[in-house]
Parts: sequence; structure tokens; C-alpha cells
Amino acid sequence: MYRFAPSPTGDMHIGNLRVALFNYICAKQSNEKFILRIEDTDKQRNIDGKDEEIKEILTKFGIKWDKLYIQSDNLKFHREFAHKLLMDKKAFCCFCSQEELESKKELAKKENRPYRYEGACDNLSDKEVLNCEKPFVIRMKKPKRTIKYIDEIKGELNFSPEDIDNFVIMRFDKTPTYNFACAIDDMLMDITYIIRGEDHTSNTPKQEYIRKSLGYNKDIKYAHLPIILNKHGKKISKRDDSSSVKWLLEQGFLPEAIINYLILLGNKTPKEIFSLDEAIEWFDIKNLSKSPAKFDIKKLTQLNRDHIKITSNKRLVELFGLDEKYVNLIKFYTQEASLVPEIKDKVLKIYSKKEISDEFKNSAEILRNIIINMEIPNSFEEFKKEIMKLLNLKEENFFMPLRLLITGLDYGPELGELYQYIKDDIKEIVK
Ligand code: GLU
Repeated sequence: MYRFAPSPTGDMHIGNLRVALFNYICAKQSNEKFILRIEDTDKQRNIDGKDEEIKEILTKFGIKWDKLYIQSDNLKFHREFAHKLLMDKKAFCCFCSQEELESKKELAKKENRPYRYEGACDNLSDKEVLNCEKPFVIRMKKPKRTIKYIDEIKGELNFSPEDIDNFVIMRFDKTPTYNFACAIDDMLMDITYIIRGEDHTSNTPKQEYIRKSLGYNKDIKYAHLPIILNKHGKKISKRDDSSSVKWLLEQGFLPEAIINYLILLGNKTPKEIFSLDEAIEWFDIKNLSKSPAKFDIKKLTQLNRDHIKITSNKRLVELFGLDEKYVNLIKFYTQEASLVPEIKDKVLKIYSKKEISDEFKNSAEILRNIIINMEIPNSFEEFKKEIMKLLNLKEENFFMPLRLLITGLDYGPELGELYQYIKDDIKEIVK
């Protein structure tokens, strides 16, 4: 069982999408189910509507989930298991106030040492705990031994008891922390393989420790994906527009191209251009590089053109919201544009009324009359000859007005190449 577990706390990031994608691919490869779990337990950080947005985005990318869970629906289980850990003396109530802990954290920071829990609440007797009326959190007791796990990309990772520390599993408001809710849900949902971002590398031993403390001994496999860097070599962040999946879609990148790019990133693949279905045939997470990968929008742009060229007519109609008769023109224009709105603009301009500058108005008018009244030949060569004959003009003198008349722009692709795609409509186009 695989899962993608986003928090509805912000725009979906390309890093999140990559995680969803890899989980989906691996689930398909091993014929297992794929769960979407919305991790909404941090109420203060949730943003209304983000859960729906996540679902919409996954759907646009063809990532289908077999089951949807809302993490907060599992609150009763989180509380029950926290209670069990307390009863078994694997966890303890901690009455230290937030202010006390904050100032200790500050001090640790000032002294340049990692903060560790220094409270003594794990030594309180049952009686002291029962008699204390202060608000409390629940913390795990520090493990006695090193915790290790194997990461499919990074190899074996070891964490000392100090790295794990007495971490909080239930907050003052009786809601679970991320580590606790996640550990419990992965156990209850029988997750067998967890693929997630590198930022969770040090959460994994805590989650393993929680499950082991509850007597759960089933092995879970892990792969933590290396981070994605921006063009400056820094971790890509929310401030980089190109990190937002919504932004990329708005710019006119195709889901197919984004998927292709994310699979290619820091990976060894048998080919450069492929579909999701093809990637399912050969994708192997072990081929991913251990080092961070740099996000290169130029490469994505190039893949976008390539995908527009190979996409089916039906899909292009859907993506561009244009009639099927424009499909060949759309593909033709990938020679000078890469994004959906850019290409759409150029194609629609051909079919709309043109504003022609004074300089070319007269000659354009004459050309228009000729074209409307002539029989349109099949080849551009003949078309050109015919016009030259009628006009008694040299080629260079009618090229610009003809270009303006057809495309509405004073630059663009070779008219001789464009001709085959527009000749059937040319009378309508120059009107
Ligand atoms: N909600 C966590 C996140 O979005 C999930 C991490 C995980 O996959 O466990 O980072």
C-alpha cells in the first residue's frame, strides 16, 4: 500500500507533485493500492480549499487515488494510541509551559548547540501527574537504543537516542503532532512503502519508534527524495514561482511535460521523452541520484514543445480549447513558441481581423482582393507565382504585406511552410 499525504497548508509544490507521482508509479508497478491522505491536523496552518485544489491538480495529472482519507477523521485512534503509550509508560505527560521551553530553545540557539528536552516530567510519579492541573502535552520517552532504517536511495541511516529525544506526540489541545498522526495512520492503513521528501529523513526514526513502541513490527520501506534546487542552487521555495504547480499550469505547461520533467530530474531514464504509462514500464526509484537536482525551466519548456508535438489531436483540443481544425497549426507553431497561451495567441491571430499599419495598408488591400478572387493553388510556389504575375511585383515587395495579412505579425515562421496549414482557409483569413 502506497500513500501521498499532503497537508492543505499551501500551494502544491513541484516537490509534492514528484512525491505523488513516484508513489503512484510504484503502486501501479507493484499492483498495490494508492491512498490520498489529507493531513489536516494542524488546524492553524490549514488553508480553506487547498484540499480540493490538491485533488484537482492530481486529477489533471492523471494521478488517481484508490481511497481518500482525511487525517482528522482518525483523531479518536490517535488519542487511543497516545493513551495506550501512556499506560505502557512509553510516553509521559509533560507540564512544562511553552514559555519555559521557548527560553531554553533560545538559549540553546545562542550557545550554538542543538536543543534537547531538559524537562524532568518523565520522572513524575503517577500521583504527581494525577494531581497536576496544569495543561500538558504528551511526549515519547527517549529511546534506549540507536534507531536505524534503510533508505532505498541513501542506504542505511542511524539515529541516536539524542537525535530522537523526548518528542511531543500530542499537543496541549489534544491534537496529534504530524509525526504521531502520520505514524499511526501509516500503521492503520497498512502502508508498506513510504516515498516522501528528504525533509522527512529525520522524522522517519521517530515514526518507526512510535510504531515499535506499540508493538507493530511490520517492515515499511522508505525512499526520501533529494531536494530540488532553484536556478541559484538554493532549495526551491514557495517564493520561486516555478515551484508552484498551479503557476506552471497557468503559464501553459502541459501536465504531460511536467510529469516527464519530474521523472527525468536527477534520474537515469532509457529515453528523454515519454508518457506516464511508459514510465510505469521502466521507472526504478533506485536509479535516482542521491544529490539534489536543479530545476531547469528551460528544459521543461523544451519538453513542453516536444509533448505538444506528440500529443493526440483529441488531447490538444482539450488543452487548447480550440477546434480540431487548428491542431496542425498548433503543432507547427511549436517551432517558435512553447507554452499553450503563446501558441494559442498566434493561431487565433491568424483567424482574427488584422490591424495593418499605414505603410502596408495599400499593398495589403490589393493582395487581399487578389486572394479573394483567385483560385487557391496547392503549393506556395504556385501561389507566389500567380500573385507576382497579377501584381507585376517583385517577391520582396509583397512578402511583408502578405505576412501581415495572414498572421497579423511582422515576424514569424516561413510563409512557405505555413501555407500548407492555412491554404484551405486563406480567403477567410485575409478578409
Ligand atoms: N503532510 C506531510 C507533508 O506534506 C506528509 C509527509 C509524509 O509523507 O509523511 O510534508
